Amino acid sequence: MLTIGCHLSSSKGYLAMGKEALKIDANTFQFFTRNPRGGNAKPLDLEDVSSFLDYARENGINRILAHAPYTLNPCSGDEKLRDFARRTMEDDLQRLEHTPGNYYNFHPGSHVKQEVEQGIAYIADALNQVLKPEQKTIVLLETMAGKGSEVGRNFEELREILDRVEQPGLMGVCLDTCHVWDGGYDIVEHLDEVVGEFDRVIGLGRLKAIHLNDSKNPLGAHKDRHAKIGEGYIGKDALIRIVNHPALKGLPFYLETPNELDGYKAEIALLRENYAG
Ligand code: FE
Ligand code: FE
Ligand code: ZN
Repeated sequence: MLTIGCHLSSSKGYLAMGKEALKIDANTFQFFTRNPRGGNAKPLDLEDVSSFLDYARENGINRILAHAPYTLNPCSGDEKLRDFARRTMEDDLQRLEHTPGNYYNFHPGSHVKQEVEQGIAYIADALNQVLKPEQKTIVLLETMAGKGSEVGRNFEELREILDRVEQPGLMGVCLDTCHVWDGGYDIVEHLDEVVGEFDRVIGLGRLKAIHLNDSKNPLGAHKDRHAKIGEGYIGKDALIRIVNHPALKGLPFYLETPNELDGYKAEIALLRENYAG
């Protein structure tokens, strides 16, 4: 059974997202924990959370993915910005304890005017402060396209962060197909080699989720602009091979393609039709 969903707006709450997911034949989804540009989160509606948990159980929705605001920069050279990122992540993780057993994904950040090594050390510091041994959420580092000074432009940088985390069991990686393609990993012509390289550098056991996107730019462009499935340089066939790859097929897949619900529904249908089970 293919576990697939898309990014949904969290503005109407958890139950609304669950219902929306079902409407488009998704069995998981991703959402922002708060306004993607940061700021305060709405107070958690515990009644909504509890109705959602029942609904999700009854309808086979699982492994939902909470995405941190993409403006957080846990490796900024500015202590105030680092602090803000850490406090936001800590607050998100506390809230996510109400929906246990899921994932929290974040962008490692940009090291800007410092050495990448300093950035990596800051990210690991933040994680070592926010991870709690008893937490029920796995935190995922997202593979990045390497735009500007983004940390996570290759598997080695993610591995370096993971190596510095004191509770590695609480961590994993979310592989974004558009980002790795833009980062120079040829998942069209050499998917097996890229999967093998991920395994050698990070370990496939650490791979917990896939962001399934086409890319508006050619291999190695370091741009990060998502395209609809089949409308970019990666192409439909390569993305179908990805959902069917023996090392990946059991993972949850999340579409972050530029679509409204109808477009997501069509992409989910296409991928389900071409999933070998
Ligand atoms: Fe992301
Ligand atoms: Fe992504
Ligand atoms: Zn992206």
